[in-house]
Amino acid sequence: MWKIEDAIDLYGIERWGSGYFSYNRKGNLIVTPTKSHSNYIDLKKVVEYFEGKNVKFPILFRFPQILEGQIKEINGAFSSAISEYDYNNSYQAVFPIKVNQRKEVLEEIVKSSKKFNTGLEVGTKAELLAALSFELSEDAVLICNGFKDEEYLKLALYATRIGKNVVIVIDEFDGTERLLKLSQKLNIMPVIGIRAKLYSRGSGKWAESGGETSKFGLTTTEMLDSIRIIKEYDMLEQLKMLHFHIGSQITEVRRIQRAVKEAARVYAKIKGMRINIKYFNIGGGLGVDYDGSKTSSEASANYSIQEYANNVVYSLKDVCDEENVPHPIIISESGRAISAYHSILAIDVKGSKNGYYNRIVEIEGNEPHTIKELYDTLKEINIKNYVEYFHDAIQHRDELISLFNLGEIELGDKSKGEVLFLQICAKAASFARETENKSDEFEDLNKLLSKKYICNFSIFQSMPDFWAIDQLFPIVPVYGVDRKPTEYGTLVDITCDSDGEIDKFVDLKDVKEILELHALDNGSYYLAALLIGAYQDTIGDYHNLFGTVNEAHIIIDDSGKWHIKKTIIGDRNCDVLGSVRYNINSLTSTFKSDVAQALKQKRISEAEADEMLKNYSNVMNEYTYLDYKSG
Ligand SMILES: *Cc1c(COP(=O)(O)O)cnc(C)c1O
Repeated sequence: MWKIEDAIDLYGIERWGSGYFSYNRKGNLIVTPTKSHSNYIDLKKVVEYFEGKNVKFPILFRFPQILEGQIKEINGAFSSAISEYDYNNSYQAVFPIKVNQRKEVLEEIVKSSKKFNTGLEVGTKAELLAALSFELSEDAVLICNGFKDEEYLKLALYATRIGKNVVIVIDEFDGTERLLKLSQKLNIMPVIGIRAKLYSRGSGKWAESGGETSKFGLTTTEMLDSIRIIKEYDMLEQLKMLHFHIGSQITEVRRIQRAVKEAARVYAKIKGMRINIKYFNIGGGLGVDYDGSKTSSEASANYSIQEYANNVVYSLKDVCDEENVPHPIIISESGRAISAYHSILAIDVKGSKNGYYNRIVEIEGNEPHTIKELYDTLKEINIKNYVEYFHDAIQHRDELISLFNLGEIELGDKSKGEVLFLQICAKAASFARETENKSDEFEDLNKLLSKKYICNFSIFQSMPDFWAIDQLFPIVPVYGVDRKPTEYGTLVDITCDSDGEIDKFVDLKDVKEILELHALDNGSYYLAALLIGAYQDTIGDYHNLFGTVNEAHIIIDDSGKWHIKKTIIGDRNCDVLGSVRYNINSLTSTFKSDVAQALKQKRISEAEADEMLKNYSNVMNEYTYLDYKSG
């Protein structure tokens, strides 16, 4: 008997869901934004709500309360670690806005600034312009990283002048003099940070962001030179932050520990030079456990947020005490961990296709010998003999192909042979499942026999990291898991790109190449892609001119009722065309004049012409994704 618990286990939802996601008794995906278990949102109900509305799928659901929840969780972890290890200072989170610059996301994060002194980190002029529009608490910092030209520096300095708590980080040596000269010229005292290049590096995909060969950071020699120059400008007391960043998604906790220890020594030695460093900024890298395995595999992290905080606080305190220097304020720039959980893409499945036709093969008697062999194998294969018969079938199939290549078999017979072979495979696979035969040859058969589910979205727009860097994201049915999934599938998006296919899925032990899914009957079928709140929103692109998706922001109140706080309409065809420099008026008038010409030459009727113009204008103003009822 299939139970909801089996579905929860199969999809691993409670392993990677971090307490925010699960399935309820009915088999519907639920979201618990506040982690208070009586208050959850049934996503089936949300999907049904939108089915009756003009906001079409795919729809990105944002849960702003999850952003708040993650900030709370990280702060809570650091405050426990601080009291446990008697650390004599505090912790402040900073959100690096390159991870998600959406206005509503930042608004939510900044809300926590009053309570937790949450700050922002920017790396470009545009990001700084955005960040300056938010009101941070008095003690929160606005950190400026990245390459900086005079305009960027000026903007940061003027912001300092009007009272913003800006820290300008020197993250390449050549930037030192540029900053100091300009500060002197404008007579504005900056708060200065310095980014160290450590020997320690992260682990996982972003290991190259740290270590001696990393793009940013100052070597020991450069740091000493930089400090000397700052002193020459008489601004040494302005140097207040030591920063490092060894890469995103650090999969192993000991890497963090090692980097903190190394940087703590740097801090202590600088402190010993009578420089009053106030902030110890450990950068990003706090990992998200996308596959729920809690291991050092690329899609995971072998530590919890609490273990991360413990390691940072303990290691830093240890070195500080040994070196007899005061404990600095700890800052982390944890972008991924704050934002990954807060958004889910709801995707409508438009159909599925097999690699073969499941038709009955009629044998007429004059077929080549191998076809008859395959036919008999199909008739006689059973649970006892299936391994042997499956091996026979492979031989017959190989023979069939050789004969075809020698010109001895016609296309009609080749087709019969292929269909018979796949039907034998399907039977063998089902016997293997029944007998719990897990050998590779039968597991591989599932892939061969899997269906392609046609999903109404673009990987390039909504999940670009899957394509670019093989980042895995959990994908599960939105409802219906009270029934056992009977199919295996991969997911194809609706772009014309053969890379637009998801054929790697999170798994506890491995990476799955096929996902357990339900057969499509006549009703709708929806899939949810989760943990896509970090990086995907702005890295997403306009491949094939699929635009940004519709969005709904959903919150839950104390009584357990959910509300759509806001909907944002995604790009229409006219929007994406505008973004590649087409002028919509001139496109329209070109089409109009072509229609007029056809009408004049009497190739179409007046009524047809009207209809065509109406259709053209509709398409121009429509959502870029597919819009038809599936089934
Ligand atoms: C990208 C980046 C971050 C964010 O890292 P996460 O792993 O997302 O937390 C933080 N700091 C710097 C300097 C970065 O470049």
